[in-house]
Amino acid sequence: MPRHAFRGSIFHLLDDPSAGEAAVGHFEDGVLLVEDGHVAEIGPWTEVAPRLEGAPVQRFPGGLIVPGFVDAHVHFPQVDIVASPENNLLHWLSAYAFPAESRFHHEDVAAETARFFLDQLLANGTTTALVFATAHKVSAEALFTEALKRNMRIVTGKVLMDRNAPAGISDTAETGYQESRALIHAWHGKGRLGYAVTPRFALTSSDRQLELAGRLLKEHPGVHLQTHLSENLDELEAVRRAFPDCADYFMVYEKYGLATQLSVFAHCLHLSTDEWARLGKRHCGIAFCPTSNLFLGSGLFDLLVAETAGARVGLGTDIGAGTSLSLFATMNEAFKVCQLKKRAAGALKLFYLATLGGARALRLDDKVGNLAPGKEADFLVLDAKALPLMQRRWNRTSSLVEKLFALAILGDDRAVARTYVAGALAHTRA
Ligand SMILES: [Zn+2]
Repeated sequence: MPRHAFRGSIFHLLDDPSAGEAAVGHFEDGVLLVEDGHVAEIGPWTEVAPRLEGAPVQRFPGGLIVPGFVDAHVHFPQVDIVASPENNLLHWLSAYAFPAESRFHHEDVAAETARFFLDQLLANGTTTALVFATAHKVSAEALFTEALKRNMRIVTGKVLMDRNAPAGISDTAETGYQESRALIHAWHGKGRLGYAVTPRFALTSSDRQLELAGRLLKEHPGVHLQTHLSENLDELEAVRRAFPDCADYFMVYEKYGLATQLSVFAHCLHLSTDEWARLGKRHCGIAFCPTSNLFLGSGLFDLLVAETAGARVGLGTDIGAGTSLSLFATMNEAFKVCQLKKRAAGALKLFYLATLGGARALRLDDKVGNLAPGKEADFLVLDAKALPLMQRRWNRTSSLVEKLFALAILGDDRAVARTYVAGALAHTRA
């Protein structure tokens, strides 16, 4: 369908809501005109309707059209170990994450899990994600293959891990480099796919592997970097011992050329003032993963400090340490973390982090994150009356902000009635 219009209440953000009212785009009776998978026009029905030129119009009375969600940090091979009880990151890795990932040398396991994972993303309204695979090349290939079939905007990469991990899920500095290179050539830029060089974190890569990761970035401009940074205090101590020449954790990544504008660091819970300043100066992206940080007791992210430093922040579900693939659940927990840190994060900010903020963190905001003309038409039709409690609360709300807040706190996948990917229907709630 080359031209198709969608009529209903529409909400999106054109900027960080702290920029003021101009950041908010809301049409109570609005229309979104999609042409060849991109937004052609958006605005009030009365204004845009005369220009539709016979394009079919789909109506969603009572629904709320919003941009597709962006998950800035998630591990697809860990869907099988979500909700595994543990109170320490390093032990959780060896007890749960590593054994789960060891199965992904098997093509069928990788393909079946990739299908399940991507279908779950769509059911939860997530249309863009930055995803960890495992160290096995086939795991990244499986995710790319399935994401291409669904035409989703997925950035992923095989994990680089050549020390402090079992043999079955490790590579070597050289094979990690060669396999990453082959994957970049085969998949980066294909459809809506992108590649991310993916050292798991400082402790599981040798100096040589980190050096080669930096080389991959230099040799392939436009490729992302994703990794973890400053999640857990035991991890910080181990990094200090492993890299005695680096004054702090972030310096390990700086040293090897891994802190770029296309880098996304998950967590960032225990950074020093100096690390924040350097991270901001380098315009790095950050994934704030509240359900994971609370689940593992890792710490509380400081949104104000991150934004003041100039870092671009999005939300990450971080499955399997995170506890939900839903960006609603993630907004809910992000709000509570901000409460504990005495930081204001209202409904607009929460939706910003889950959409445009995430797109900016991934430097994909020229393509997704809101429904501005020219962007790829990834959007959701939300049904705030899907749950009795939500419906009851919704009926008592009067302003848009109140309605959005109720959705952010009470919503889950049941509130996602439909998910559209590049203008095409990709998921309908059962
Ligand atoms: Zn993670």
